[in-house]
Amino acid sequence: MTPPPNRAAGRLSISASLKPRELMTDTPRLKDAWSVRVLTLFPEAFPGTLGLSLTGKALEQGIWALETIDLRPFGQGRHKNVDDTPAGGGAGMVLRADVLGQALDMAAIGTPADRARWPVIYLSPRGKPFDQSMAQDWAKADGLTLLCGRFEGVDQRVIDHYAVQEVSLGDFVLTGGEIAAQALIDATVRLIPRVLGNHQSTQEESFSEGLLEHPQYTKPAVWEGHDIPEVLLSGHHGQISSWRKAMAERLTKERRPDLWRAYCAAHNRDPDEDQEL
Ligand code: SAH
Repeated sequence: MTPPPNRAAGRLSISASLKPRELMTDTPRLKDAWSVRVLTLFPEAFPGTLGLSLTGKALEQGIWALETIDLRPFGQGRHKNVDDTPAGGGAGMVLRADVLGQALDMAAIGTPADRARWPVIYLSPRGKPFDQSMAQDWAKADGLTLLCGRFEGVDQRVIDHYAVQEVSLGDFVLTGGEIAAQALIDATVRLIPRVLGNHQSTQEESFSEGLLEHPQYTKPAVWEGHDIPEVLLSGHHGQISSWRKAMAERLTKERRPDLWRAYCAAHNRDPDEDQEL
């Protein structure tokens, strides 16, 4: 007879049904494929838009892998409670440290302890604002663990104990971390080689060179009386590329003085110089 699972001494016995599962595809994942593990109360929100188009195709092909870890089975008692009222009072509920701790322990199974190779991130409005350079770093890692909050957020002790990095999508408050996680995964996964067919396009787009992208046009050549800028139809690659560069600089200077100053500092330029256009 098989002995019953050992629940003695408060040790977590992980049941098979709690194993992180390869959720989103039947295709065996390629060895060492970039992987993301998402801890959420709403696994059904995934893959969401990540299952579409180029990211979806790459997911199907096993170029990257997505696993969700449902927080609910880690809940306490008959009702599997995952949250409780805030210590000190106040509105709303907070995700419990014990529940999240068990889920994070499971998410860590088989991942490198080196956080540079496998960052552990909590999506949070208090976090460091997400940007392209973070996506570039993470695309080079082996994978990521993402914790999606709900309600008022998570018990601070979990963030401290696991040295979780907090990352924000921007200065606004979402209802939960799932949409933020999907945005972060999308921006990161598209930088993994082979996810976008034409890798060149990730080098020229907004932010990659510290500038916003130039405007884009396509057919028809005249639409509602509006022409495409002549230079783009000229066939002069040199002129086209200087026009694009100048437009990118002008847009960045007008719309994002913060990016413009950083760009000028990096290129030894005077941010107040007049631009010839
Ligand atoms: N009480 C918190 C907000 C909680 S919102 C506060 O004032 O800071 C609920 C969850 O949504 C958070 O736990 C977080 O995971 C997610 N979330 C909300 N806004 C976000 C943002 N700007 N970026 C990333 N995640 C966010």
